[in-house]
Amino acid sequence: KAVDGVSFTLNDGETLGLVGESGCGKTTTCLSIVGLLPPAGRIVGGSIEFEQQDLTRLNPRAMRRVRGRRIAMILQDPMASLNPLFTIYRQVAEPAFFHQRLRGRALKERVKSLLGAVRIPSPEARMREYPHQMSGGMRQRIVGAVALSGGPKLIIADEPTTNLDVTIQAQYLNLLKDLQRDTGVALIFVTHDLGIVAKMCDKVAVMYAGKIVEYRAVRELFSDPKHPYTKALLGSVPKLGSKEPLDTIPGQPPNLASLPTGCHFHPRCPMAMPRCSEEEPRDFRVGKDGLARCWLVDHEVEVTHGQASS
Ligand code: SF4
Repeated sequence: KAVDGVSFTLNDGETLGLVGESGCGKTTTCLSIVGLLPPAGRIVGGSIEFEQQDLTRLNPRAMRRVRGRRIAMILQDPMASLNPLFTIYRQVAEPAFFHQRLRGRALKERVKSLLGAVRIPSPEARMREYPHQMSGGMRQRIVGAVALSGGPKLIIADEPTTNLDVTIQAQYLNLLKDLQRDTGVALIFVTHDLGIVAKMCDKVAVMYAGKIVEYRAVRELFSDPKHPYTKALLGSVPKLGSKEPLDTIPGQPPNLASLPTGCHFHPRCPMAMPRCSEEEPRDFRVGKDGLARCWLVDHEVEVTHGQASS
């Protein structure tokens, strides 16, 4: 299972960070939400509740009405999202054409205003150009305009700044924040950069081997992390001016086809106890509304399917 028992909630205007090493299930979680799992992938249980409907029960046609309109996705590589053969106008206009049924002058005005919103200079002229005529940062902003074009309630951004240099990255993150403030859209932000999480997110889900191992408000996660994996991730972030060697996490993420017994993190965990290799920890309530999946916090309240038990 690439993703197993992942559970979170997101309100209007909130940002959730999905964090973890490559292969931990972040992207699979997002592709499940938008119904774009590759052919070998399938959802075998659970539900994805969005605007009073369970997305796992929608047929492909109904899902197409949600995807691009109510939920949009921004991918890491803008060239993978933009079609090199079509003008910027056509690509930004498409979701508004299909989902909002805008035509003619209204559609053109919509595209112009979307390009303005993502700070493309001279939008009128730029909309006639092609992706190859734009810089990397501009292309990623165009992808942002395409995402906004259908009027979404939720945007899933999968490592959208990985290919941008640091200055452009900062501008892009500020832009996303501004757009979120103006439109009230909710964001799921996939990243392995904890600096971005601190800047962008309200809450964070730390994933390991297909499961959420810690789920916290962002301030709590940084001030009082509970799970040893979260602590290790925070310890491996370079600190400006520090001469201390960086902490590293020994070993490799496990093979999902043959997971370690008990806690899947135990072979790499500096805090592992005998119990950890025998029994898989459950979710325990930590902090205000947080969860951590670790035996070290089993004096806290155990949580089953979002309900607290003793
Ligand atoms: Fe480490 Fe045990 Fe907690 Fe797993 S359950 S993270 S092995 S202390």
